[in-house]
Amino acid sequence: MTARPGGGPRIGVLGGTFDPVHVGHLVAAVNARHALDLDRVLLVVAGQPWQRAAGPLATPADRLAVVAAAVADQDGLEASDLEIARGGPSYTADTLETLGCSCPGAELFLIVGADVADQLDTWERVGACRELATLVVVNRPGASVGRLSAKLEALGWRTMTVEIPALDISSTDLRARAADGRPLDFLVPEAAIRHIRRVGLYADER
Ligand code: ATP
Ligand code: MG
Repeated sequence: MTARPGGGPRIGVLGGTFDPVHVGHLVAAVNARHALDLDRVLLVVAGQPWQRAAGPLATPADRLAVVAAAVADQDGLEASDLEIARGGPSYTADTLETLGCSCPGAELFLIVGADVADQLDTWERVGACRELATLVVVNRPGASVGRLSAKLEALGWRTMTVEIPALDISSTDLRARAADGRPLDFLVPEAAIRHIRRVGLYADER
């Protein structure tokens, strides 16, 4: 891991269900890494996304494998199985605590889309997240960033925003596409699509 003069590594954390991963996630991750000079960004795959009414379609292992395929050739992006390996509901507070302990001196950056940034007050032990990480908000179509900064500041977050090209892509839409037999091409990295096809994910509703 890169040591910095006077400081530890700068680590980005992009958590998600990734059911499946798509270029919206990856564009957010690489642009946050670039804008904030992060050593690496971990795409942390939720084992049990406890806030979802309906569970993910794909298993944790399959979602992780598809993320790993998507980032395999991308410097500085890594698939993380931290939350899957821990078991139980995937609380970001636990994840940030684990990372803080395993990388002493690391500076943590929690990367979220604007839709998620607007819902942080519903998170488990959100105060611990606030203590442990700087929040990095990326714009997302359908979620307004304008009023967010003031709201987050009032809640006590250290916040930065990173502007990315608006990508109106969601895993929900991709699951619907796969179920209808419509293409995922260019919305999901090719290596990830190959894995999805090889294992036959998302196709069982076709
Ligand atoms: P779903 O439709 O199943 O909720 P999703 O596309 O929202 O899937 P998640 O795994 O829920 O993907 O999101 C993980 C993180 O990535 C969240 O912080 C979310 O805001 C962010 N994100 C997802 N898609 C985009 C996008 N197109 N642009 C910017 N951020 C995104
Ligand atoms: Mg989502």
